[in-house]
Amino acid sequence: MSVRLADAHAHLDLPEMLPDQEAVVRRAREAGVALIINVGIGLKQSRQALNTARKFRGVYATIGVHPHGVGSLGDKDLEALTPLAADPKVVAVGEIGLDFYRRRSSEESQQRWFRRQLEWAYSLKKIVVVHTREATAATLKILREYRSRLQGGVMHCFGGSLKEAQAFLDLGMYLSFSGTLTYPKAEDLRQVAKRLPLNRLLVETDCPYLPPQPWRGKRNEPAYVTATAKQLADLHHLSLEETAHQTWLNTLTAFELDGKVGEEVVG
Ligand SMILES: [Zn+2]
Ligand SMILES: [Zn+2]
Repeated sequence: MSVRLADAHAHLDLPEMLPDQEAVVRRAREAGVALIINVGIGLKQSRQALNTARKFRGVYATIGVHPHGVGSLGDKDLEALTPLAADPKVVAVGEIGLDFYRRRSSEESQQRWFRRQLEWAYSLKKIVVVHTREATAATLKILREYRSRLQGGVMHCFGGSLKEAQAFLDLGMYLSFSGTLTYPKAEDLRQVAKRLPLNRLLVETDCPYLPPQPWRGKRNEPAYVTATAKQLADLHHLSLEETAHQTWLNTLTAFELDGKVGEEVVG
């Protein structure tokens, strides 16, 4: 059984990735990473994410505005992105959410635009990719308000407690683990990850950030998601192949790609 993996969260259009973007996608395929969700973070970047997704088989895009960027958002901006959602390569609204760690935008405006983008996702019938940092309680509160209108979603780069994990699972969200799962200091997170149901877990790189342990200090790229999948496999006492396969299926289900991404994406 060969390894086939999905990277549930990558930023292939950030300046760090652009110079060798084609080689990055090629190395991913060589490593068995046949599906990459290329995540938008702003108005311009969402268009770029889609353009890149159109260029490569097995690469899909999300559109949305990261909490860092909502300070300058205007009412017409989401409307301008709306036509992109009709493209079959656009699979979610994201990444959206709350970041009270860096606070590049005020808490008030982050919460307002998180709600606005959840409503926008609902109107587009898209799932959401959610970023939360030092804002779990507020993120849960807002997601619960939209519970009946959530199409589903992914908590990306999950780093919370077992209780928090359970709360997101109860909302129907998938939890995505990044390279942080492999860090020596992440023992608490590993204890959480081993107790979670594998059929609700994804793996991601969040590249160019957060390289798994073997590549700490370097630029991250989708091929390296293998190390995170291996860590998850060890925690669940499974083979890499089994864990890769389960997280692959979960990624297809989470992003409603069942039947759309088939064998043809490999190779
Ligand atoms: Zn993020
Ligand atoms: Zn991200």
